[in-house]
Amino acid sequence: MSSPRYWELSVETPEEASEGLTNFLWELGALGVIEEASEGRAPRLRAFFPKTLFARALEQGVREYLGGLAALGFRASGEPAVVALAGEDWADAWRAHFRPVPAGKRLLIAPPWDRPPVNGRVVITIEPGRAFGTGQHGSTLGCLTALEALLARATATRLLDLGTGSGILAVAAARLGVPAVVAVDEDPDAVAAAMANAARNRVSDRVRCVLADAGALQETGVPVVVANLLTAAHLRLAPRYARYVAPGGALVLGGILDAEAPGLAAALAGRGFAPDGSLSLEGWTTLTLRRGPGAPLHDRA
Ligand code: SAH
Repeated sequence: MSSPRYWELSVETPEEASEGLTNFLWELGALGVIEEASEGRAPRLRAFFPKTLFARALEQGVREYLGGLAALGFRASGEPAVVALAGEDWADAWRAHFRPVPAGKRLLIAPPWDRPPVNGRVVITIEPGRAFGTGQHGSTLGCLTALEALLARATATRLLDLGTGSGILAVAAARLGVPAVVAVDEDPDAVAAAMANAARNRVSDRVRCVLADAGALQETGVPVVVANLLTAAHLRLAPRYARYVAPGGALVLGGILDAEAPGLAAALAGRGFAPDGSLSLEGWTTLTLRRGPGAPLHDRA
């Protein structure tokens, strides 16, 4: 065995804190972070670090972060543990976690090292990294499925992807034939990841990546707008959606907890959007809505 060159830090996390702790681990300098879920137990995060960092400092940083959470009233979590790893071990663990995932009827999401049998599917290659959107999450799979169904029914000349993360939805839309896609994120790391993934899938000429707030765009008359954000963001952005989406155009919204879907659909009805489909995967609802014809509703935003 070659000498250990990496650390693996593993820690149990309260479910509701796993996203925040994942971000914290990336910020500590992780090369990769994996979340392992197991039935009836709190999720476990495994983060891989170069050995140039001090194991004790990593443990201490995580302990302080968890202490802060406990002070905020989060349930107690486990103690972080650090072990040394050979390079191959971390790469193997990382790769084993990201396997090709079929989405919808025609798409297959694969990491760059895996060349899966295509079986007539359109392969979207996404490098797993810090940006959200590796294809493993129910909300991403829901949006991919809804988008594919929509684009199978009618072609779209233009598409707006709000909160693009890794660029997965924008790249899929381009690969499914949309010639002009605008991919927007407020996080510079996400925009960089989206650009790299667009290039990896040879659709850079179709996907324009923009660093901006989803609510601050000048776009209007867009035939398809997709946004995998959270319900609170959808409610805040509803007046903007009414401005962006063309009359008769489609709005695909993800990141909605199942229980939140009826309320959100009702709020969007007030903005001129009628329900046109809904699907639920792993507790996350994806709504497809259709904007009514005619002039945009009065927009006070
Ligand atoms: N579209 C990808 C990623 C969704 S995660 C997928 O479906 O998997 C949500 C992304 O939206 C994150 O990258 C986050 O940085 C971005 N985001 C959240 N709020 C935003 C806002 N107001 N404006 C722009 N981007 C936003």
